[in-house]
Amino acid sequence: MSTPTLEQVQAALETVNDPEIKRPITELRMVESVDIAADGVVSVTVLLTVAGCPMKDTITRDVSAAVERVPGVARVELTLGVMSPEQRGELGETLRGGQAQREIPFAQPGSLTKVYAIASGKGGVGKSSVTVNLALALAKQGLKVGVVDADIYGHSVPAMLGVADSRPTQVDDLIMPVPTPSGVSVISIGMLKPRRDQVVAWRGPMLDRALVQMLADVYWGDLDVLLLDLPPGTGDVAISLGQHLPNAEVLVVTTPQEAAAEVAERAGTMASMMHQRVVGVVENMSFLPCPHCAEAGTEHRLEIFGSGGGERVAATLSQRFGYDVPVLGAIPIDISLREGGDAGKPIVESDPTAPAALELSAIAATLSGRGRGLAGMQLGLTPSSRF
Ligand code: ADP
Repeated sequence: MSTPTLEQVQAALETVNDPEIKRPITELRMVESVDIAADGVVSVTVLLTVAGCPMKDTITRDVSAAVERVPGVARVELTLGVMSPEQRGELGETLRGGQAQREIPFAQPGSLTKVYAIASGKGGVGKSSVTVNLALALAKQGLKVGVVDADIYGHSVPAMLGVADSRPTQVDDLIMPVPTPSGVSVISIGMLKPRRDQVVAWRGPMLDRALVQMLADVYWGDLDVLLLDLPPGTGDVAISLGQHLPNAEVLVVTTPQEAAAEVAERAGTMASMMHQRVVGVVENMSFLPCPHCAEAGTEHRLEIFGSGGGERVAATLSQRFGYDVPVLGAIPIDISLREGGDAGKPIVESDPTAPAALELSAIAATLSGRGRGLAGMQLGLTPSSRF
């Protein structure tokens, strides 16, 4: 077989994306040199963004696999180097696209990324579980999805996505979101702490800085959807988010319980006070399908947490805001949903035909059906009064 050409190897390298930045390594100027010997041995030197890059195994595997596929390649010899501070600076510049720093891309007038904040009145209703499963279901539909875990109390999202101990890589002064096995990128407020077990009393201005950092200093690339897991309640994060991302839309998660519904209504009202639109209500832990009846071929729903909470929140918010706030779905209690979260493999991936997974996927389909783009965005206009 003839010796491969430089063009062929170059074309193969162009198919390899940096796992964090999700752009071709050639475009990011990570390929330092390519050398093709007459016997078909191809030597490639790739520069990692930082020493000890957590993604170096993935890059090694992907580069080797891509170059090995080129006809005539006998062997690939890959050398990994590290970018110099100047090269990192240039890369940071490329990624920012010459833009001034500390601008939130999703808040720019032309942004086509749909931003959904997932809110709840209180903790433990399944807000984070809903967030990660919606993220995965949207990614399965082929959308590019990012998740910001802004829940200062829980920050359980990375663990649910299977990247509990990962820390983000920094390129110049840009932070790379952590890629997850499912293709969704995530950044968590927990990752901004020096250590995972450290306790930080997040306060107003500090929280605001953390939120801006997660939105502006993180290189998100061109996302179709950004999901934000908010802390429960109506606190500082909701206010900061309203100020920095008034175009974010809000999804309220509640359980069927009367008391949960009441606090969920408040979380929804908070969003409206911040001029954000509430797109709908998700009722979680709606019922437990009785396993004995299912075995006998009949359906019997055990309403462990009562019933009607989702409908009640939707009706109250619709009346309060004067537009339709629908119930987007009712998710049953399912042990595999809990297990999937604990194991870092959300149910839409680990058990996609389970009723809870199907319901979550249907909610994701409703959201993606709303499309990408500016539609639905509030314009921040107050109608003038009529005389
Ligand atoms: P929140 O983010 O509102 O605090 P989580 O998503 O962390 O809530 O959920 C709290 C606990 O309940 C987790 O252990 C999660 O796995 C479990 N859970 C959530 N929804 C369900 C469900 N529909 N069926 C079974 N377990 C659930």
